Amino acid sequence: MIITIFGPPGSGKGTQSNLLIAKYDLKLISVGDLLRNIISSGSELGNKIKGIVESGNLIQDEIICKLLKDQLELIGDRLLLDGFPRNLNQARFLTQVLQEKYNRDVDVVIELQLDDDIAINRLKNRIVCLDCKSIYSISSFNGDICVKCKSTRLEKRVDDADMSAINKRISEYHLQMKGLRDYYKEKLLKINANLGVDEVTQEIESKISYNLV
Ligand code: ADP
Repeated sequence: MIITIFGPPGSGKGTQSNLLIAKYDLKLISVGDLLRNIISSGSELGNKIKGIVESGNLIQDEIICKLLKDQLELIGDRLLLDGFPRNLNQARFLTQVLQEKYNRDVDVVIELQLDDDIAINRLKNRIVCLDCKSIYSISSFNGDICVKCKSTRLEKRVDDADMSAINKRISEYHLQMKGLRDYYKEKLLKINANLGVDEVTQEIESKISYNLV
């Protein structure tokens, strides 16, 4: 199965992706996490993209598509994509590369729908474990240790600490989704992401099983 998941920043893409890969035995490609790893490696590419990611802008398609293609080589065709495609050009590239490599296409496209004011509140409240990438909300977090991997390296993302980066990511998301919704209209599962984590997971799973029958 190949799933891609869309949602504005703060919609729970990362959280739901981790639950879904366990449930359906998939490998995860999270483009945002890949980019942040490249940035923290201090490589030439990392230095080139650092400012772009931190200010909330999208990286050029050429760089992202190459990165994605390399990951697909490593991972195979049972996968969940978080953060790709983000525009029509990337969607067309994905169709083409999956066709060439595996003679198949994306099976399911999940769209997490979230009100902007809730997204903004969640982002202002979000901290991330630098080691295992678990996501927590500051207001409901007790202590300073990651529950999952026991790391103490919990931080706010640079692009979550800057209101202009948050607004840019949300407005760019809405702009690009118009084309993507149309491109994937036959495969799109719309999910209400204003609800709690468990309710969102349930809605996704029930729509996936209905869709795959
Ligand atoms: P969010 O959903 O909160 O914006 P992500 O972790 O998915 O967070 O992405 C963080 C940043 O990484 C984006 O703001 C953008 O700069 C870059 N990025 C991620 N995916 C893509 C992509 N497919 N194309 C271009 N840039 C991307």
